[in-house]
Parts: sequence; C-alpha cells; structure tokens
Amino acid sequence: MKNTILVTGGAGYIGSHAVLALKNAGYEVIVLDNLSNGHRELVEDVLQVKLIVGDMSDRSLLDNIFSTHNIAAVMHFAAYIAVGESVTQPAKYYQNNVVGTLTLLEAMLKASVNKFIFSSTCALYGVPQFIPLTENHPQDPISPYATSKWMVERILSDFDTAYNLKSVRFRYFNAAGADPNGLLGEDHEPETHLIPLVLLAALGKRESIVIFGTDYPTTDGTCIRDYIHVTDLAQAHILGLEYLLKGGESEVFNLGNGSGFSVREVIETAKEVTGKVLKIEERDRRPGDPPILVGSSDKARQKLGWRPEYPNLNEIIRHAWEWHIKRHK
Ligand code: UDP
Repeated sequence: MKNTILVTGGAGYIGSHAVLALKNAGYEVIVLDNLSNGHRELVEDVLQVKLIVGDMSDRSLLDNIFSTHNIAAVMHFAAYIAVGESVTQPAKYYQNNVVGTLTLLEAMLKASVNKFIFSSTCALYGVPQFIPLTENHPQDPISPYATSKWMVERILSDFDTAYNLKSVRFRYFNAAGADPNGLLGEDHEPETHLIPLVLLAALGKRESIVIFGTDYPTTDGTCIRDYIHVTDLAQAHILGLEYLLKGGESEVFNLGNGSGFSVREVIETAKEVTGKVLKIEERDRRPGDPPILVGSSDKARQKLGWRPEYPNLNEIIRHAWEWHIKRHK
C-alpha cells in the first residue's frame, strides 16, 4: 500500500507539527518547502524526514517528486499567512497561495494522486452573521489572504467534480501553542501573531505589545479569537487523511475550540503564565481583521471523531512559553 505523504510547508509552524503527528502515526513523509519561512533544521535534525528544498510553483520539480515517490496523499501547508501584509501586497498572496496551489494540484492530477488535505481558514467567513461559525455560514472574506484560501476551496470543489480529486479542507481558527514535549514551536520571521509576540515581549525580546484596535463591538473593545492548540490541529490532519484514504468524499471542517478570548484576555493569561509585567500600546485597527471569529467544530467531532486534547488557553500559552524559553536560551 502507498503510504508516503507529501507535506508542503512542512518546515513551517503548523506543517512541522503535522509531520510529527504523521511520523508518530507510522507514515513515511517527504517535505517540500522553499524555506521562505520554514526551518531546515526542524525537518532534517528534529523530525529527521526527507526535505526537498523547492517551490510548489516549480512544475518540473513537482513532476519529478511525484514520479520518483509513491505518494498516497498531499498535505498542503505552504502559504503566506499574514493578513495585514496581504492587504498591502495582494499580488504576492494570489500568486503564491492560489497560483502555486493550482500548479501543485495539476501536478497531482498528472500523477494520479487524488487525495488532498488543505489548510484553509475561518477568515473566509468574513464578519460573522452568527456565532459560533458553522461550516455553512456565508463566505465573504475581507482580506486578500482569506480570499486566496476561499479561491483554493472553490478550485478544490470544481476539481472534485471534474477530476475526482478528493479533499479535506480544514478551516483553522487561531493556531497557537507548541508541541507539549518541546520538540517544535512557532518561529516566524517576522512574527505577526499575537501569542508569540506577547511571549517575545515577556522574554524581553520586544519592548511592548501592540493592541490593534480597542473600539471593536466586543466586550472589551478588542478582537475575539478562538485559539486552538497546534497539536490538536495536527491530530485532526491525521484523522482527515485516514478518512480520505478509506475512500471518504470531499469535506470541509472547522477546527477550533468554540470559545473566544479577546486580545486583552490573551495578554492577561500570558501575564499569569509567564509571571512577567508587560508594556501595552493601544493602536488603530489592523486592516482585514473581523471583530470576532469563534467556531463550532461539531462536524469534525462527529464525522472524524476529533477530540481536542489541549483546549485550555492557559495550557496552550504555557506550551508556547516553554518552547520560547528553550528556543531563546
Ligand atoms: N493582534 C494584536 N497585536 C499584535 C498581533 C495581533 O492586537 O501584535 C490582534 C489581531 O489584530 C487579531 C488578533 O490579535 O485581532 C489575532 O491576530 P493574529 O495575527 O495572531 O491571528 P489572525 O487572527 O490574524 O490569524
């Protein structure tokens, strides 16, 4: 049986945690990563998995990978992810996230690989009309980043109809935390995400924490997000993969915890976890941010049997903190 999984973006934050989960579940893994944001040593030294350094827009490289390995499915994490940057540089996002993914999908079709796990986002719902968001909430993305993910979801749906390409699309809420055993963690350059930025401030690597927007229609005026442990996300990918390998039809699943925390609440929890005093600056809203994103993952629970193991925000931040301390020692 073919059991090699190609993981694009496997040197990045969520991708590397998925590679670890795949290895633990007994799969062979090959990582394709252009190292624009990923880390070579994570793949080669920590995970000890084959790394191909290259781009998913390189069609001849892809054809070569598919013709020389027995690939059963592709997990696709490679993408640009900064909402704010996508507003000022949309071409970069459409080129990489949409055109690059299309190239990857066409190479899969040529090689008759028809199982695809896609990192999508809850941001494609736009400003919520109801909370918690369910998979059938109307989609109206408000940033080029979210639109790029929405476009790929549409492509996947059409590719299933036309070419029988089966996909599981996971709409992540806010991935956070780190491997509970301390092997992996979040290390973007530049860092734009709230929890690692707060922890870098706690470590003294940044002067202060900026709160983007204090006039949102929420309890304390700051944005509310649903934070989900990266190890729980990774585990969902194993379940999604097994579902497809058993012949499952294309599906879309939210992955979140169903409870929301404001930016101020995240900062307060980080203060408790780290025991540090943190300096805060309040600034204007960041373009592209919906006020609240909290989701229902009932469908993933029911259909995939997914059960998040680390739903507690304190624990999510603690795992991230332990990793940051180790990383910056
Ligand atoms: N945020 C903030 N300060 C920061 C980074 C993020 O106030 O330095 C806010 C951001 O505006 C959003 C929330 O924190 O409301 C989560 O942002 P993040 O970039 O972590 O994830 P996103 O929701 O964009 O995927």
